[in-house]
Amino acid sequence: MVFSNETPLILVVDDEPFIRMQLRLSLEQEGYHVAEAQDGREALAAFEQLQPDIVLLDALMPEINGFECCTQLKMLPNGKNTPILMITGLDDRESVDSAFEVGAADYVTKPIHWAVLRQRVRRLIHESQIQQQLEASNRALQQLASIDSLTEIANRRRFDEYLKQEKQRIIRAQFATSRGNPILLSLILGDIDYFKFYNDTYGHKAGDYCLYQVAQAISSVVNRPMDLVARYGGEEFVVLLPETDAAGAAHIAEQICTQVRALEVPHLRYSQGYITISAGVATINACFEDGMNNLVAIADQALYRAKQKSRNCFCTKVK
Ligand code: GH3
Ligand code: MG
Ligand code: MG
Repeated sequence: MVFSNETPLILVVDDEPFIRMQLRLSLEQEGYHVAEAQDGREALAAFEQLQPDIVLLDALMPEINGFECCTQLKMLPNGKNTPILMITGLDDRESVDSAFEVGAADYVTKPIHWAVLRQRVRRLIHESQIQQQLEASNRALQQLASIDSLTEIANRRRFDEYLKQEKQRIIRAQFATSRGNPILLSLILGDIDYFKFYNDTYGHKAGDYCLYQVAQAISSVVNRPMDLVARYGGEEFVVLLPETDAAGAAHIAEQICTQVRALEVPHLRYSQGYITISAGVATINACFEDGMNNLVAIADQALYRAKQKSRNCFCTKVK
């Protein structure tokens, strides 16, 4: 059965067919979609398949009781985000405490007080929708906070954070690999050639657009899921290449130079006639902490040599 996005779906779990029918009629009257399960096992399967907006769960059922079922539902994907309303004939303190302990959002007692049930269901669905919207907004904000708005690639903040994560990953990997095996990590630092002249000649707006084009050209040659391209500063870009050796990194650096030149962005105050980029490549054995901490500085030294050499080229430094 396919349910529309707008109408909430309620999964009713109760071993008594009469109660299920009463609940279905009452909830359908309220305009909800209703699915039924007659025991804990069916409830778990239905939950995974239907992804309901709320579960109404009987506490006393044969085999898997409501409390155990609730615990297992909470462990399923999306289980944490879906409110569970326990329906129990037991309103002693211990049962109520147990319901909350296993993660139920609320409970009602049998015989069901329909007006109370109606209000609780409505409130729980509303709260859960608000919570989900909030989480989606937070994810979007997080995403925005890590993107450079001008070039639409990762920003410096994201790079710093990613490098920190990579350090942690490498520390863990060191324990998993046999001692002595190097863990390679490469980094490319790129810097647009004579960009100050470009801005002076064509204006800041053209400069901004050029930065965007260069960022996209760099991104187009960096493809592995673990690689990261970021804007490091004004007209400087950084590419982090985990588990990449010097030859692999040199290959990427060469492609970056080629692709930026291939943009054919005119730059008449520079002998090449077009925008180009210089790059410094660093490759380290990340097992040594000093290399890891100096990764950017090592690439910067190589970049300096590329600038000295001819620009529109890359130099490599292996430590
Ligand atoms: P080199 O080849 O030695 O790198 O020379 P360069 O002129 O590129 O180097 P320099 O560091 O002297 O100049 C960098 C220039 O980059 C300065 C500034 O005009 C420009 N720039 C930095 N950030 C931005 C930006 O966000 N937008 C624009 N349009 N220009 C920027
Ligand atoms: Mg610079
Ligand atoms: Mg520059």
